Amino acid sequence: MRAYERFLKYAAYPTMSSEETGTHPSTEKQLVLARELARELCDMGLDNVEVDEWGYVYAELPSNVGTVCNNIGFIAHMDTSSEASDENIKTRLVSYGGGDILLNEEKDIWLKVSDYPYVEEHKGETLIVSDGTTLIGADDKAGIAEIMTALEVLIEKNMPHGKISVAFTPDEEIGEGADNFRVDRFGAEYAYTVDGGGLGELEYENFNAASCKVEVRGVSIHPGSAKDRMKNAARIAAEFDSRLPKDEIPERTEGYEGFHHLLSITGATEEAKLVYIIRDHDRAKFEEKKRFFEELGKQMNTEYGEGTVTVNIKDSYYNMREKVEDNIFVVERAKEAMRSLGIEPIVMPIRGGTDGSRLSFMGLPCPNLCTGGANFHSRFEYVCVESMDKITELIVKIAEDVAKSEKMPLKA
Ligand SMILES: [Zn+2]
Repeated sequence: MRAYERFLKYAAYPTMSSEETGTHPSTEKQLVLARELARELCDMGLDNVEVDEWGYVYAELPSNVGTVCNNIGFIAHMDTSSEASDENIKTRLVSYGGGDILLNEEKDIWLKVSDYPYVEEHKGETLIVSDGTTLIGADDKAGIAEIMTALEVLIEKNMPHGKISVAFTPDEEIGEGADNFRVDRFGAEYAYTVDGGGLGELEYENFNAASCKVEVRGVSIHPGSAKDRMKNAARIAAEFDSRLPKDEIPERTEGYEGFHHLLSITGATEEAKLVYIIRDHDRAKFEEKKRFFEELGKQMNTEYGEGTVTVNIKDSYYNMREKVEDNIFVVERAKEAMRSLGIEPIVMPIRGGTDGSRLSFMGLPCPNLCTGGANFHSRFEYVCVESMDKITELIVKIAEDVAKSEKMPLKA
């Protein structure tokens, strides 16, 4: 079976995760796919297949070589983003000859080259698209399909490989994919998430990330007699935001540049709340940005009175680079495998995070491989069938190369 055929099957399962429920997994429906994947892994003959109480799927393909080599792993996530619907996903194959793609005739929805010029790189290839009303969930079911198909190839063609650990995780999109990941149970010394974009993308640098809640407490008094007594929390909240560095926002930054991003602002005279995320690739600059928020809070408290502004910052994840760089052969291994398949590695800093960034800090160095998809989290998401075949080959190739190489020591 080709990777895209598996993908079409998985895509039909609605698996949106949810920030609201507080359960693990966050939605029951992810378990439906988890069980299906576990069954497929069992049917293929993998060992120690398990869906655990948090909805993680684990499995192992035992080594078929006599030599001692590293136990590597591959990881993909099962959930899809809540930014686009997962209800009634209708995938469709398009032989792409260039130009705009009509996704939905009835609703006149087009995937336009003017919006997504890179789609034209796929002229002459086959794309999988939605009907313009849902995402397709190539993020990250394309990754699951590629890992599964690579396992099938390794088994059916009896290709040399060491022990390979596989995990499919829930709740990546709500930032909880690594929360209940059991690195010891997984067993691998290092791993790759297969959760990136276009063919060739290889990532091992991501943002340092924090969330920040700013709470403002005001004093509400009848405006007619408010002179020198009212403290308008909504106005103070707006002022707080206006005093942040103006150019350090997502819409004015790119590449390695960090930002603060105002997610929401709510409130009235009595109280108000600002919710931010803070991001930077550079750890020192990241700390500096967080400090700025705290100092601004203090400054405004001296102006408006102690206890007016409370700044609460919580770190979310860190740049995996500092962990992966100690074991850079993990990245080199992927690059070499790509080149030997005629894929030019495109190494780029992720302006976000992956499960791999947190796993890297949990003792499992974990760069991110491409999936062949694009426009993730959107109704205009698509994935390239031919890229999926190539990425499946890439996974097989990495497994083969590891089996042929001596066991590398990992630095913690
Ligand atoms: Zn993803």
